[in-house]
Amino acid sequence: TTGADVTDTRTAGPGAGVTVRVPAKVNVQLAVGAARPDGFHDLASVFLAVSLFDEVTATPADALTVTCSGPDADQVPLDRTNLAARAAEVLAARAGISPDVHLHIAKNIPVAGGMAGGSADGAAALLACDALWGLDTPREDLLALCAELGSDVPFSLVGGAALGTGRGELLTPVEAGTFHWVFAVAHGGLSTPSVFREFDRLTEGVDVPVPQASPVLLAALASGDPDALAAALANDLQPAALSLRPQLAATLAAGADAGALAGLVSGSGPTTAFLVRDPESAQKVAAALEASGTCRATRITASPAPGATVVPA
Ligand code: ATP
Repeated sequence: TTGADVTDTRTAGPGAGVTVRVPAKVNVQLAVGAARPDGFHDLASVFLAVSLFDEVTATPADALTVTCSGPDADQVPLDRTNLAARAAEVLAARAGISPDVHLHIAKNIPVAGGMAGGSADGAAALLACDALWGLDTPREDLLALCAELGSDVPFSLVGGAALGTGRGELLTPVEAGTFHWVFAVAHGGLSTPSVFREFDRLTEGVDVPVPQASPVLLAALASGDPDALAAALANDLQPAALSLRPQLAATLAAGADAGALAGLVSGSGPTTAFLVRDPESAQKVAAALEASGTCRATRITASPAPGATVVPA
């Protein structure tokens, strides 16, 4: 044990960086209310973090720059519209410093897939910059900054399982047993605002009830019983996503034929999520989905997964 470890981020030497790992999410329930006067929708959203992760690494730089690697990297904006860059900007503004940082996103979460990939990178960048700059921002303040960045960003920071109300940003942790999932990644993305607009079109003239979390679903989630959860899964955005992307019906049918306990569109889609009994059936359902030709790729995951976490150097 001689000399200093030059890779130790605590020494903050040139090239030192902080890496944060952050999960994707699925909504096991997404109850959507009528459009509010401000255009947003009140939601009751039961978020579950799944073991599919992006990693964001923050390193000191002369200016704010973003790079991205991974199969979908070409679809990720590298300018200031990237949620990771916006996170660095809002945190630096709060601290009264300049956001001079290089952010590298190792992207594994499907882009524009309804799994909150951009939101995940925003939460990860916030935590990485906070550590890199030694700010020690209180947790409540980090959560408030997350809510400023987007409705799904606070959950990406917190992870686990939680009920989101308001626009989805007001979180209450909920209990969740272990569940196994297969995700079918679709060809192309869907823009979340366009799915909400389609929801509004489909519900025109309909008396949309006030969104509420289902007690049956919350009990199923806590119990860890996959059959109970399968029976309770619900996504009010699914008809809108299917209306915009009718091919998703074939993916849902292929997963059901393969023995999934249930399938649903993940958030605003077009990724579809299949609840399966165990890791063995996950392999089988994933193989059948890939063979069906109704999706671009599959990912096997488990839930709940932890929220944004600094990876030890
Ligand atoms: P949600 O589930 O929260 O509705 P999503 O998973 O459907 O989101 P994202 O992957 O977050 O969608 O991307 C939506 C759009 O946001 C992209 O098409 C892209 O233009 C933009 N974007 C901004 N920052 C990022 C980022 N870090 N990663 C991916 N997309 C980003």
